[in-house]
Amino acid sequence: MKKNVFVFSRLAPEHLQRLSQNFNVTLLDPGRDIDAQYAAALPEAHGLIGVGRRFGRQQLEQARRLEVLASVSVGYDNYDLAYLDERGILLTNTPDVLTETTADLGFALLLGTARRVAELDAWVKAGNWQGPIGPALFGTDVHGKTLGIVGLGKIGAAVARRGRFGFGMEVIYHGNGRKPELEEELGARYLGLDELLAEADFVCVVVPLSERTRHLIGRRELALMKPSAILVNIARGPVIDEAALIEALQQKRIRAAGLDVYEKEPLASSPLFELDNALTLPHIGSATDETRRAMAERAIDNLERALLGERPRDLVNPQVWARRQPA
Ligand code: NAP
Repeated sequence: MKKNVFVFSRLAPEHLQRLSQNFNVTLLDPGRDIDAQYAAALPEAHGLIGVGRRFGRQQLEQARRLEVLASVSVGYDNYDLAYLDERGILLTNTPDVLTETTADLGFALLLGTARRVAELDAWVKAGNWQGPIGPALFGTDVHGKTLGIVGLGKIGAAVARRGRFGFGMEVIYHGNGRKPELEEELGARYLGLDELLAEADFVCVVVPLSERTRHLIGRRELALMKPSAILVNIARGPVIDEAALIEALQQKRIRAAGLDVYEKEPLASSPLFELDNALTLPHIGSATDETRRAMAERAIDNLERALLGERPRDLVNPQVWARRQPA
């Protein structure tokens, strides 16, 4: 008998067709009562696939048959790992396939804030360009500056490569420990977080959200940055204390911030909207046609393998898989 899969975010028709070959597929319809659809689908589902939903203990308690949750994302901070472990539910994610695309976006934010791209685009379109431009509209250089990466993982290293080899930047980084191979490749220097913040011209934050990284950058850390420095967040919103950041931007205690992620998403209104020195994007790190397709495929691979009894490639909780194997 085919197992049941509940798809809780949009997938392309060819991906749905692929899933339907092996499973009974139910789709979440955003136009109908969302809670009612979850209430109907969860008790039957053997597999869930999608992104952007916070599945807590209470909701998953209804999903008594659930074997696997396949997230179409690399971050998995919105899942209750302890409860998944307790229930023996596999969690998979989609690393690697979004690394370069997210790094591109990080660099877009870096360049966009430094050269005031969005701000000056709006200025031109408002009909303000009526004569030569002066220093009031000047930006700051990116090339040759010091790039501080907080979290030199896959995406952090890809941002660092762009800086080092594309823009001749000096790379400094902070993380859980030193990475000798990357130090050699990038000529990068390891620093404590405080030292990195004080030295960098650009700080790019790319750590996973966890209890250890929540508000990693707060009022104290922002105060360590140079007034000329720019902060870029392509990780998760709560890694930065947003209220403290808004205050620092309002008071021009740092030059600018390029943000893809926020403490509360979607960001429907915010004091950030009033700030020329905040470049705000709607969580689009991995949002290109090619990469979203690759992520969906990777997530489907993981889901299929789990439900067909094979080890999924991207297991966030490998201990759950190990426990399922005969001794
Ligand atoms: P990754 O390869 O696991 O890299 C994460 C890095 O963060 C690792 O180098 C890790 O250090 C470091 N780190 C972990 N905890 C830390 C801490 N407390 N202090 C300092 N560094 C710490 O993951 P990735 O693929 O690069 O992705 C990173 C994050 O980016 C994801 O978790 C996700 O939330 C976010 N992301 C956002 C978007 C978007 O749309 N904006 C897209 C993709 C990913 P060690 O290696 O030493 O453990």
